[in-house]
Amino acid sequence: MNSKRNSFIIKSLLGLILVVFFINIYFTSQLFFNKSKYKTLESNIESIQTEKTKLLSENEKLKNEISQNEAKINEVIKTSKRAYLTFDDGPSNHTLKILDILDKYNIKATFFVNKKDNMDKIYKEISDRGHVIANHTATHNYKKIYKNQDNFIADVKALDDFIENITGKKPSKVLRFPGGSNNLVNKSYNNNANFMPDLAQKMTDLGYTFFDWNIDSTDAAAFRQKKDIIVKSILNNTPSVNTANILMHDLDPKDTTVNALPEIIEGLKSQGFIFDSLSHDSVKIQFTKVN
Ligand SMILES: [Zn+2]
Repeated sequence: MNSKRNSFIIKSLLGLILVVFFINIYFTSQLFFNKSKYKTLESNIESIQTEKTKLLSENEKLKNEISQNEAKINEVIKTSKRAYLTFDDGPSNHTLKILDILDKYNIKATFFVNKKDNMDKIYKEISDRGHVIANHTATHNYKKIYKNQDNFIADVKALDDFIENITGKKPSKVLRFPGGSNNLVNKSYNNNANFMPDLAQKMTDLGYTFFDWNIDSTDAAAFRQKKDIIVKSILNNTPSVNTANILMHDLDPKDTTVNALPEIIEGLKSQGFIFDSLSHDSVKIQFTKVN
């Protein structure tokens, strides 16, 4: 009986030792496995950090390159010859065609418009396509607008309100006096020898910036000026200026101006001009001096 019992105890002990042994092996191998996993993770983290440092330095390098390029671009823009295409007396039946040509060349221009009925869609189109709608008085009626300052101001405001109502945008307050700021036609309608300089000062004080022009397309010199004369009048005179404020007209009889437009744009581009629309910051081409 005793030897049977002893053998049972020995077997049990052996079994227990075996169980402990295997448990030990299991945990030791787990520990080893985790350690190697940890090592791999550690080396992964290290290489990610190295990669991060590399990317950060590359990022810094690219940022420097971008700001250097931006400075170069700004310098080119600042020193570039600039052309302002301006269209007076519109809108007309040609306005949409003019807009399509400008779109084709990705150019923004300035439209010195008057107040015309049944043209709401055209005003809106000019504005929506990103061009400047500028004030050329509601009526363009010399007799009325150049009789006294109040008449002129009321006429300008009437157009501002009219345009704002259609486009939903605040008036640009960019202005061109009918006939220019040094016109003589006003003298037939008032007795003030200083009428235009006084008016130019008054409108400036009211927050308007007025622009005359230094390049005349001569499209107003004839009822229908020859296309070639329009092109030459512009391109023969632009090489001598850095800022070209170009006077053209957007009126029904002026289809030769529209036909000349692509050649004018191509010519100005090959002379190194970039195109812009007028704003209060543009170089002020003004015939009349104001403070
Ligand atoms: Zn005009």
